[in-house]
Amino acid sequence: MSFDFIHETLPQRVVFARGDAPGAVAAEVAAVGGTRAMLIHSGPSAEQVEAVAAQLPLAVRHDDVAMHVPIEVAERARAAARTGDVDVLVSVGGGSATGLAKAVALRSGVPIVAVPTTYAGSEATNVWGMTDNGVKTTGTDRRVLPTSIVYDATLLQSLPADLSVASGLNALAHCVDSMWGPRADPIDRALAEEGIRGLRAGMIGLVDGAGGLDAIEQTLYGAYLAAVSFASAGSGMHHKICHVLGGMYDLPHAQTHAVVLPHVLAFNAPGAPEAAARISRAFGSQTAVAGLAALRRAVSAPRALKDYGMPGEGIAAAVPPILAAIPTNNPKPVSTDDLTALLRAAWEGDEPR
Ligand code: NAD
Repeated sequence: MSFDFIHETLPQRVVFARGDAPGAVAAEVAAVGGTRAMLIHSGPSAEQVEAVAAQLPLAVRHDDVAMHVPIEVAERARAAARTGDVDVLVSVGGGSATGLAKAVALRSGVPIVAVPTTYAGSEATNVWGMTDNGVKTTGTDRRVLPTSIVYDATLLQSLPADLSVASGLNALAHCVDSMWGPRADPIDRALAEEGIRGLRAGMIGLVDGAGGLDAIEQTLYGAYLAAVSFASAGSGMHHKICHVLGGMYDLPHAQTHAVVLPHVLAFNAPGAPEAAARISRAFGSQTAVAGLAALRRAVSAPRALKDYGMPGEGIAAAVPPILAAIPTNNPKPVSTDDLTALLRAAWEGDEPR
């Protein structure tokens, strides 16, 4: 096999600090010379947020956070950052809190210290996203890549079980799409394969309850690898579908990914033998599709888009923008009929074909 690719590794500090987010965040803020911090938070308990705040040179505290970063929410956060004359952003929360910090950094260039409390993975990418009138726009920019990540598993103990499962599967979708994204290279595939291993072990530990903080850390490790590989490989067919559906029908991010993933894997796997072999190896299963199906059964994964507010008559309208967005290097060509059948199955909660 010959190698012919260019891989860019994004520079970041990754700190695992079980039970010590406050101390670790303070150290990372000091490391970037932060003297006026803006704390953006959504998710963990008031006491946990307070503990982080107490050790910061705090200038602004901001909890006006919304999923998919509506432009007006971004503008309010940017105004608060300007008024507070902040020189460092600390996000404590899921992808929505990280995403809002990115919206501020995109304009101001202020560095971010990210403290993730879901498995969304936004903390490890240079991708930003914003929504205006139901249309989500994304882009990449060095300024939005957090300088440091602090992973503290104790902050995820309060994440509801169903959201833990959906969010873990969202991370798994990063791994799967990294196998065939538009810039996917062998380094991405290796990272994604190890990410699947971590996510599978971690998520099974999460749902059987025996894994405790070790299971959360294992899942965070997998989610980090998932995001790193995804940032390099770029959005493949799976992310293009979820991106369009999420913007058009205001669907919950993690659950949408969790439902759509098995359908895209079943569709693409026959056209991507190397990816399918890596995925099945990571799952320890006969086939990639069987491995994902077994994990989904073990964690009682979300099944149907109709359960999350997508109207059935919305399928036809979503097909053209999704078809236009699917990368031309997708392992298999996708027709209108293919995509309509895939979306119908995901909407109904049918078995993937
Ligand atoms: P989210 O951040 O909106 O969190 C979902 C819900 O869980 C919220 O109500 C939140 O308050 C709550 N929550 C979060 N952590 C909690 C905790 N520890 N305990 C209790 N409740 C908690 O959702 P998400 O799925 O983490 O992120 C979705 C957003 O992130 C979307 O807008 C998506 O587009 C974006 N995203 C971006 C990237 C990227 O690279 N730019 C990657 C992944 C996701």
